[in-house]
Amino acid sequence: MYLSIEGVSKKFGQATALERVDLALAQDEFTCLLGPSGCGKTTLLRIVAGLEMADTGRILLDGQDLSHVPARERGFGIVFQSYSLFPNMNVAQNVAYGLSVRGSDAGTREARVKELLDLLMIPEHAHKLPHQLSGGQQQRVAIARALAVNPRLLLLDEPLSALDARVRSNLRDQIRDLQRQLKIPTLMVTHDQEEAMAMADRIVCMRAGQIEQAGTPDELYLAPRTSFVASFIGEMNFISSHDARSLPGPALRDARGESGAAAMGIRPESIVLHRQASGATATATATATATPSAGNCYPGRVRRAVFLGPTTRLQVETGTLRLTVDQPGRSAFAPDEDVLVEIPAHALVALQ
Ligand code: ATP
Repeated sequence: MYLSIEGVSKKFGQATALERVDLALAQDEFTCLLGPSGCGKTTLLRIVAGLEMADTGRILLDGQDLSHVPARERGFGIVFQSYSLFPNMNVAQNVAYGLSVRGSDAGTREARVKELLDLLMIPEHAHKLPHQLSGGQQQRVAIARALAVNPRLLLLDEPLSALDARVRSNLRDQIRDLQRQLKIPTLMVTHDQEEAMAMADRIVCMRAGQIEQAGTPDELYLAPRTSFVASFIGEMNFISSHDARSLPGPALRDARGESGAAAMGIRPESIVLHRQASGATATATATATATPSAGNCYPGRVRRAVFLGPTTRLQVETGTLRLTVDQPGRSAFAPDEDVLVEIPAHALVALQ
């Protein structure tokens, strides 16, 4: 592995920020540290950057122990949430700063600045000062500055969170494309699960100073191991053993029993609704593609339906359960309608 974080712990006074964190990052990989406020993501990034000392553990890059290598000698590019450009230098000078420090000649600097400003689509701003730029443009400059020195590792600390939604999603795609193109191993901190899903090859979900689960976005979404991960990444319906008992039929109970899980979960888009034949509970289906099987189909009632454009989000009651159900486009079901709620066994995940 290119970057290895081994047994890193950190306390601030009595408060534990990180507890024996192990993590490895492959070359070319884009990894996101994701988690709620205070879970230790920034502290871990700062320790990797050399801006903070770990109490125990070590950081290795390409086999080299960085414990005694100061931040400025690590050769990393760092971008923070606040753009932190040099206010009295213009864009070109900001981007060229790292190269100047390294003693590159003027020709090399000029060519590199032009290349990066073109890459980040801001060539026309080369001679402006930071305060003459929008937030999105300033952040592009900060990224260009971080990339100028061909960093061995790119560290991004919530680089998009100060930007408005449209600029954010635009720059998000661009950073991702750039990272792929330049093949720079990247570690990014975010508390935004959608951002992590959209950008990362691998998401490391953190909780209270520890890694709760690490995996590809698909793995974390489709096979979360714990309720914490399941609820932090996307929406999840939780079905406790009490709820499972309130539903007729053995399917849920069996699924839970086999896995020994604390709860079962099902994503809103995995639940299938069928129209009830007048008064009957388990006969007709509204769709030709899904036929409810006896074990996991329950009578229920639609309580709410909110049309969101691409999807409709429904709240459906069955037994003691109140489930969120997402359907594409405009749903065929309306509030107060009786339905059959199908919980496909294959879509249930066992959660600790
Ligand atoms: P956020 O998304 O809010 O930045 P985070 O996951 O990045 O949160 P950290 O900033 O790493 O979390 O903080 C982890 C814990 O360590 C928190 O409880 C925080 O209050 C504490 N902490 C961080 N830096 C310091 C410091 N310099 N002094 C004291 N406590 C700190």
